[in-house]
Amino acid sequence: MSTTEGETVRVDRDEVFLELTRSICPVCKRVVDAEVNVRDGKVVMRKRCPDHGPFEALVYSDADLYLSTIRFNKPGTLPLEFQTEVRDGCPLDCGLCPEHKQHACLGVIEVNTACNLDCPICFADSGHQPDGYSLTREHVAAMLDAFVAAEGEPEVVQFSGGEPTIHPDIIEFVEMAYARGITHVMLNTNGIRLARDRRFAQEVARVGAHLYFQFDGFDESTHRAIRGRDLRADKLRALDHCAELGIGAMLVAAVERGVNEHELGAIVRFGVEHPAVMGVVFQPVTHAGRHVEFDPMQRLTNADVMHALAAQLPDWLAVSDFVPVPCCFPTCRSMCYGLVDGSSFIPIARLVDVEEYLDYAANRVVPDLEIRHALEKMFSASATPGVEQALLACESCGIDLPKALEAIERHAFMIVAQDFQDPYTLNVRQLMKCCVEQITPDGRLIPFCAYNSVGYREQVRAAMSGVEVPTLVPNATPLQPLLELTRYGSKTVPVADRSARSSAGKGKVGR
Ligand code: SF4
Ligand code: SF4
Ligand code: SF4
Repeated sequence: MSTTEGETVRVDRDEVFLELTRSICPVCKRVVDAEVNVRDGKVVMRKRCPDHGPFEALVYSDADLYLSTIRFNKPGTLPLEFQTEVRDGCPLDCGLCPEHKQHACLGVIEVNTACNLDCPICFADSGHQPDGYSLTREHVAAMLDAFVAAEGEPEVVQFSGGEPTIHPDIIEFVEMAYARGITHVMLNTNGIRLARDRRFAQEVARVGAHLYFQFDGFDESTHRAIRGRDLRADKLRALDHCAELGIGAMLVAAVERGVNEHELGAIVRFGVEHPAVMGVVFQPVTHAGRHVEFDPMQRLTNADVMHALAAQLPDWLAVSDFVPVPCCFPTCRSMCYGLVDGSSFIPIARLVDVEEYLDYAANRVVPDLEIRHALEKMFSASATPGVEQALLACESCGIDLPKALEAIERHAFMIVAQDFQDPYTLNVRQLMKCCVEQITPDGRLIPFCAYNSVGYREQVRAAMSGVEVPTLVPNATPLQPLLELTRYGSKTVPVADRSARSSAGKGKVGR
């Protein structure tokens, strides 16, 4: 309300209210209500902790794109079994608890906390550290069995860490996963061992593992900012070994504002040309675990990744070529498949009216269920290179794709934008439909973003290593007055500040 010359006038709010949901306080992790609003063309989450005050964070930097994305929301599928009960409410009952809306498309097993790098950015808070854990064969067998019990025939498992390639039993772990009928087994690796140990690379090829290969860019400054070292030669050598040995790799780039967002187009071009590379996943840096200081209102989102790619590769890509992934909550991940022919790149979304098949909200009759199922497989968290063959095999496609492909030397290349949630952006609406699950040694399947944000990672590490692990807090600019360093390089707050009472006003650090 404003007053001009004695007249009282009502004024509009500067934002459009989208939803009331639940999130957590980034400092004490208590569950709090959260609003999601559109302001200045962007989607922003706002919440308030009674002890630590208000917090705001950018969720999606293009509100129009966010709103059109939400229509791609497929009904979830129940897993065969849940691992926990509903007791304290989401996100404290992971999981999966019976309230969860989707089964696990992809399971992640972190085999160790040790790493041969100490990256300044590491959501797993790994490195050369005095404590931690390394899984045994018995642990991994039980975790894979829990995944099979929940899924029946799981599609994809990723062995991660730490650095999984330095685990002495990693080759056997891959064999154990395949022996249980899991279709696609991946190693999430920084590539150093594959570059420097050719015999190991031969073993990886022998057991048929695929790589989720850390690759952030080409500038030395990018490597130093994100990995703390110049790893350019190692990356190229590792990928060349993969090409020689027939190991397929998805490049995975952590993207941080002001560091490497100018390199996204060059990474795609490099991947398209390299024989070992099947696609690229761009992940805005997850502000959980260890990371450089950031401003939650300036963070990079999926929309920034898609806009940057369209600007840097205007002959190949437009933002409209990306399709929201409907199996998880559709704002989590968007994907584009391109058919590569020499120097041309033709996005599949220009050949098939994907919206006609995957806009579940419109509720109209689907022209062809076979095509819908093929597209659902392609635009899924468990999509693996080659999955586009299901679409190409559709005789009823109506666009004669197989013929169009006859002259094409390499069929398809996958590009993914995947924004993980952090303690600032966590939204239970998104989380309850998560289809990427962290498998824990006690047999739970915990949604990946909950694992990193809510405190589950710290609990599992403490239980497995026998060492107390502090509750981690994002290294965010508004929190700087409270933060102190952990022995792993991440940030925490002293216990007294974590439980500060609102009446004292002392702990109110949010914006
Ligand atoms: S995220 Fe899913 S498993 Fe975890 S508490 Fe919420 S509904 Fe349950
Ligand atoms: S980000 Fe990966 S490579 Fe870097 S320290 Fe963490 S686990 Fe190791
Ligand atoms: S891991 Fe996070 S970003 Fe990915 S599907 Fe789950 S909730 Fe969404």
